[in-house]
Amino acid sequence: MIQLSKVLNAFVDENLQQLRTQGLYNEIDSVEGPNGPIITIRGQQLINLSSNNYLGLATNDTLKEVAKKAIDKYGVGAGAVRTINGTLDLHVKLEEKLAEFKGTKAAISYQSGFNCNMAAISAVMDKNDAILSDQLNHASIIDGCRLSKAKIIAYNHSDMNDLREKAKAAKESGLYNKIMVITDGVFSMDGDIAKLPEIVEIAKEFDLITYVDDAHGSGVTGKGKGTVKHFGLQNEIDFQIGTLSKAIGVVGGYVAGKQNVIDWLKVRSRPFLFSTALPPADVAAITEAVQMIMDSTELHDRLWENGDYLKAGLQKLGFNIGHSETPITPCIIGDETLTQQFSKRLIEEGVYAKSIVFPTVPKGTGRVRNMPTAAHTKEMLDDALAIYEKVGKELDIIK
Ligand SMILES: *Cc1c(COP(=O)(O)O)cnc(C)c1O
Repeated sequence: MIQLSKVLNAFVDENLQQLRTQGLYNEIDSVEGPNGPIITIRGQQLINLSSNNYLGLATNDTLKEVAKKAIDKYGVGAGAVRTINGTLDLHVKLEEKLAEFKGTKAAISYQSGFNCNMAAISAVMDKNDAILSDQLNHASIIDGCRLSKAKIIAYNHSDMNDLREKAKAAKESGLYNKIMVITDGVFSMDGDIAKLPEIVEIAKEFDLITYVDDAHGSGVTGKGKGTVKHFGLQNEIDFQIGTLSKAIGVVGGYVAGKQNVIDWLKVRSRPFLFSTALPPADVAAITEAVQMIMDSTELHDRLWENGDYLKAGLQKLGFNIGHSETPITPCIIGDETLTQQFSKRLIEEGVYAKSIVFPTVPKGTGRVRNMPTAAHTKEMLDDALAIYEKVGKELDIIK
């Protein structure tokens, strides 16, 4: 007989039930095939406006070939953690390439972007330190900060006066050995870009360590080279974090920075020391993907063209698309229930764009978030806009 803890059963059942009655239980759809511009779910073909596959690299033929060759030469697993003997020459090559890409002396790769934030923050910050963190920072940043046990001081989203005041107060309190400021490079719910020049200025004034997680920026901003390069600040940011799973199209994450910082992460960051290295096929494909982004802005240019096209189309139809500065295109509906109904109808009509509601975004700002990619054709975007028009009118969101 299966012997489960009664306490656990009661806890799980009660909470699941609550989520279901509140309509907050997320049923996960599975995609039957590649996560390209058109996806199949339950046999239905849908225009995909929900992936982070910005440049279409997740399904790129050259990268598939490179990955297959790496499997033939190296096998499917790295075999160990990086610090024992899981460091393949492929990892070394990848890290050299990432440093070149980010304009830093060195870089270190991790198994995911999430892992980078678990790894890097707690390797340098501890209970005698403080972290100034943008209120809208990604969940993995929040968890990484918590793990470090440093005092977390949230500042209002991209509010530079608030950041300056809190930095000044933290510095003058004399309570902390080190103070760090952490921000997303691009905020994924609204598509706005962090005010890095001001952040760097404040950091200089109050001697702050600077940490930018540019998961949604690499491949997208700075002609593909990211938000830090967009502002030309690669010599002024201590930690540049990126993911290899969004625009790069594969999986993994990295930290780029000064040689001594990266050397320290190699001896102190726990996911590097205690979790197996990225597999060879992925590492080979990532290295090639980064090279492709450095060699040509063709995919980047197409991504922005598609983003601008979708934005203009939605705006012309009368939708509120917020103030995105990147291809991320929110369509802000407001009311949570209406937002969910809107997204459901879009999917029924053939557009896969997910609703994002409280608590992921503030109450009353429910939205359907659109992620156009370089792989979409104008025809697909026109079809999506026609469906937006139909459903928008049907639900009285536009006239
Ligand atoms: C997506 C994201 C991550 C997580 O990256 P993964 O590689 O998917 O683990 C981390 N930080 C930010 C800001 C992100 O947007």
